Amino acid sequence: MTQIAKNLHNILQKIEKSAQKAQLSNHRTLLVAVSKTQPAEAIEDALLAGQRLFGENRVAEAQSKFIDLKKRFSDIELHLIGPLQTNKVAAAVALFDVIQTVDRPKLAEALAKEIKKQGRTPRLFIEVNTGLEPQKAGVDPETTGDFLAYCEGTLGLKISGLMCIPPADQDPTPHFALLKKLAESLNLPFISMGMSADFEKAVELGATHVRVGTAIFGERRQ
Ligand SMILES: *Cc1c(COP(=O)(O)O)cnc(C)c1O
Repeated sequence: MTQIAKNLHNILQKIEKSAQKAQLSNHRTLLVAVSKTQPAEAIEDALLAGQRLFGENRVAEAQSKFIDLKKRFSDIELHLIGPLQTNKVAAAVALFDVIQTVDRPKLAEALAKEIKKQGRTPRLFIEVNTGLEPQKAGVDPETTGDFLAYCEGTLGLKISGLMCIPPADQDPTPHFALLKKLAESLNLPFISMGMSADFEKAVELGATHVRVGTAIFGERRQ
């Protein structure tokens, strides 16, 4: 077994344990393996271990690795977890299966246009800035309902979930709880939260997707 296969196995077990601990019986948390900066060979190790959900934060880097890999492994589900510029929307819609970082009207408008044009419909999550950090992307929790209504009502986009990246220097617990509450109140089924350091907590608090990089692949290569 490769180290990556071992790490994946470990993390899946921890996810299972956390779900049991929180008595989330019919709840399933999916593991998104964050492969940014990792070479295609590392991703192949994960694929051979059975992993199919991957997260990348840059469109060009994802293209360079996953256009090929998706031809060889047709059931890969690729998630965009980094900020998306409007000039990359066409490429993102063509490649990604889930875009987790819908965070502003201009981007939503560009996505609506491109989805119509390509006839390809990646699942969309709204990124919420639960810590109200000025330097961070994401919609203010207070206005997420309005933004959702704009995306769905005005633009005709289907939104499936919410994601957040809590402030690095804080206990993530209240942020996870807030995202969960917000998703429930807006009737959105998917909740993406939790990374290498805190995915178990996120599972306990109801994450449907955790995004784990270094705990699977080791330190990033850049
Ligand atoms: C890099 C990244 C992750 C993974 O972080 P690790 O700490 O390596 O698990 C998760 N989510 C987002 C948005 C990221 O950019």
